[in-house]
Amino acid sequence: CGIFGIFSRCENVSMITYWGLYALQHRGQESAGIAVTDGCVMDIQRGMGLVPDVFKNGVPEMAAHIAIGHVRYSTTGSSLLRNTQPLLVNYSGGQISLAHNGNLTNAHEIRSGLEKEGCVFQTSIDSEVIVNLIARSGKPTVEEKVSDSLTGVHGAYCLVIMTENKLIGVRDPNGFRPLCIGKTGEGWVLASESCALDTVGARFIRDVEPGEMVTIDDTGLSSRHFAAAERRAGCVFEYIYFARPDSIIDGQSVYEARFNMGKTLARESGYKADIVISVPDSGTTAAVGFSRESGIPFAEGLMKNRYIGRTFIQPEQKKRDLGVRLKLNAVASVVKGKSVIMVDDSIVRGTTSGKIVRMLKDAGATKVHMCVSSPPIGYPCYYGIDTSVRKELIAASKLVDEIRRFIGADSLHYLSLEGLHASIPNISGKTLCNACFNCDYPARIPCAEQCSCNK
Ligand code: 5GP
Ligand code: SF4
Ligand code: MG
Repeated sequence: CGIFGIFSRCENVSMITYWGLYALQHRGQESAGIAVTDGCVMDIQRGMGLVPDVFKNGVPEMAAHIAIGHVRYSTTGSSLLRNTQPLLVNYSGGQISLAHNGNLTNAHEIRSGLEKEGCVFQTSIDSEVIVNLIARSGKPTVEEKVSDSLTGVHGAYCLVIMTENKLIGVRDPNGFRPLCIGKTGEGWVLASESCALDTVGARFIRDVEPGEMVTIDDTGLSSRHFAAAERRAGCVFEYIYFARPDSIIDGQSVYEARFNMGKTLARESGYKADIVISVPDSGTTAAVGFSRESGIPFAEGLMKNRYIGRTFIQPEQKKRDLGVRLKLNAVASVVKGKSVIMVDDSIVRGTTSGKIVRMLKDAGATKVHMCVSSPPIGYPCYYGIDTSVRKELIAASKLVDEIRRFIGADSLHYLSLEGLHASIPNISGKTLCNACFNCDYPARIPCAEQCSCNK
């Protein structure tokens, strides 16, 4: 998911949030929402679909000074209108609105406990647990209520929270998902990625730190640490696939990381061919890096339909299957009679890759060598990326050569974990989460899912 928040007395916060969400659209296409407040009341508009569709009749019009927004990609809770965010509730202390990116790993337990005590839930998303805990906390200030509510919560969460007079940003103690702070002329902005700051004309100030809570109100920005430091574990997949290449996360340019992954891949694989092509858009930066390092010309061998979103992010497999053909087509004049190195960012289920290899061969490619700018994904993610069912992961049950055969490629090379880390020079591999590659989960995973890898 993507989250955004703004506090400003001089700007149209509703409209700026709309632009911010537009810039974060790649982080979720299922639903979008904006909540605003003028200091007395809150207004909210949410809907299913892409940002421009949800707000085609305009954004909330209130003369507000705080707004938060959310774009959703469902990892818990079905894709339904009532599961859209931000959430907005009334409680004894007033109104509160919250938007969440990440995945809690013990929400079920907390929820059943609360239900036994008589709590009612209106959605099936994990984020509602936090709202309930905040509303029930007996602490005096909203910051203390938020810290209090998060003490027993595990997993990944970046939050933007709005009260009538405050905007609060929170990043979990492992720092799985990104969250950064920006400044407009008069106001402050919080956003999942720095590309959204660029879009709304805000200046990047810094990232919110793992375990940090920032409060923005009329007195400016203040910060506190709400939890003891834990192992720092930014999601390495943000660099491989999820984030936009023009973002900078925790001091590392996503573009530079992807470009390096391609260069490293060229060195590791040693593959030679007539051309290097990418699976657009997610494989393109790495393919360009591969071409630069190997000297093999980059060409556009696959065309992407610009009007199709991220197909993987469609929650159901059937939609994904059709999605591949709708989304991509081979350019016969580029690949015919050529041996081709095809670079993509990841193989998850293997269905996309198999179809694309077939397409290239049908279009006349003589050889297809596949290079993947991540290691094999053998373990599910419980922290907010939709690779959560182990049996669907092709690398959980097949060896590399079996995967090669399954997708019909002539050769297949995955970037090594060391090569991946070397490609992200500003961050130590030890301070990243790599669990989907090595089963080393930095935060508790759901009890029912204890891993079977014998580590
Ligand atoms: P597969 O061959 O496993 O069916 O699909 C791999 C493709 O899915 C890659 O091109 C990758 O860019 C794309 N993809 C889209 N969304 C995600 C995601 O959330 N995680 C991962 N790992 N890959 C994704
Ligand atoms: Fe990211 Fe993988 Fe860790 Fe999930 S398990 S947070 S996708 S690195
Ligand atoms: Mg892709």
